[in-house]
Amino acid sequence: MEHLETDVLVIGGGAAGMAAALSASRAGVRVTLLEREKKTGGVLNQCIHHGFGLQFYQQELTGPEFAFRLQSEMNEHSVKVISESYVRHINTKSKYVEVISPEGVFTIQAKAIVLSTGARERPFGALQIPGDRPAGIYVAGLAQRMVNLENTLPGRRALILGSGDIGLIMARRLTLEGMEVLGVVERLPYAGGLTRNVVQCLEDYDIPLYLSHTVVEVRGNKRLEKVLVSEVDENFTPISGTQKWFNVDTLILSAGLIPQVEDLGENLEIDAINRGFAVSNTCETNVPGIFAAGNNVAVFDLVDYVAAEGWIAGQNASKIVKDQKRESKRIPVIRGKNVGVLVPTYITPEEHLRIYIRLKKPMDKGTVIIKKLGIEKPFNYGVPSEMINFVVNRDKLQELKGPVKIEVIE
Ligand SMILES: Cc1cc2nc3c(=O)[nH]c(=O)nc-3n(C[C@H](O)[C@H](O)[C@H](O)COP(=O)(O)OP(=O)(O)OC[C@H]3O[C@@H](n4cnc5c(N)ncnc54)[C@H](O)[C@@H]3O)c2cc1C
Repeated sequence: MEHLETDVLVIGGGAAGMAAALSASRAGVRVTLLEREKKTGGVLNQCIHHGFGLQFYQQELTGPEFAFRLQSEMNEHSVKVISESYVRHINTKSKYVEVISPEGVFTIQAKAIVLSTGARERPFGALQIPGDRPAGIYVAGLAQRMVNLENTLPGRRALILGSGDIGLIMARRLTLEGMEVLGVVERLPYAGGLTRNVVQCLEDYDIPLYLSHTVVEVRGNKRLEKVLVSEVDENFTPISGTQKWFNVDTLILSAGLIPQVEDLGENLEIDAINRGFAVSNTCETNVPGIFAAGNNVAVFDLVDYVAAEGWIAGQNASKIVKDQKRESKRIPVIRGKNVGVLVPTYITPEEHLRIYIRLKKPMDKGTVIIKKLGIEKPFNYGVPSEMINFVVNRDKLQELKGPVKIEVIE
């Protein structure tokens, strides 16, 4: 069995992992990146639309262009990329990693590790929709991969369940490729994806958005034939008398992403609300020397946020290797009113504090309040699909003691 050694090991070669590998390498340490697919890029490879990189590269790029830029920079900085390598287990204490590849199992000893394994889609089984189990039901990412990378259409007439960004983008994509998209069904009273995607992907193509509706039954012998849609009340209970059948051969599920944290290693703390690794603003997990960044921490809206977090993770991982003095204080961050997803879970005063908040509900006006830091940030119109994001200078964190509460008031 082959055995390798490296300074910083990055696991997962999406935007977060590539940014981490690049920043660690620029800091002068040896970096190895493991990616289970044939090439790096992660979800970017199948997102052929524009809208990536406005902040990170100050340029509007497609997903593959963004990935290409990062990969080219990694080449320039001699990051060692090993593709088709699936990390099966990490001994978090010793940083000894077991990897499966087509050539067999191999192991790597690292000094610091960055986890950047992204997120996976909520599958059909988890939605517990009654009815048959025919062919023709796809998670949106798979349908996107089929259309954009494998040149295959999933069907002829589709309904989309869930108005997350992938669902909205697929509504437009399938329409452009000649499929008939009868609508997007969303159980919440507002869209789950970015406002710009509702406008550019649905309204511009006259695709109806059915808010406060859900799919309550699927029917089909071998292939999907029809889907029953019902209006729901505020508890998501179907309202009788509102049901309507849609004759479709394809149901696309865009019912949320879940950070990919399973089976990687023992003793890594998970944030119960984000469902991802609980990290501080240095991107370090509860295990010293193990960092995490990107969609396996929380599902971020923009690749710019993911890449920025990856960059910080790589920088801090390289500091471990270079034995630079680091502070280990971790001050818990507590969610107050109206705060859902919140990154980071802990504050370490050595690093600037980048805060990402997902509201629990839409608000016409609101103010983010962090009393302990004397921060009051008013905003006009906030929705759960668009994270509120701002930076607090580390100078403000030096005297910080005890848990810090972040709340949003209307
Ligand atoms: C349809 C869609 C549209 C989007 N549109 C936009 C947009 O317009 N603008 C924008 O800014 N952002 C957009 N985003 C968001 C952005 O693309 C993502 O937030 C970002 O690319 C996620 O990067 P990541 O590195 O966290 O995860 P990923 O890209 O998922 O990368 C994770 C990588 O880890 C690998 N991996 C996982 N487990 C293992 C393992 N055990 N061993 C080895 N490798 C492993 C995976 O193969 C993958 O390559 C969109 C996302 C989607 C899905």
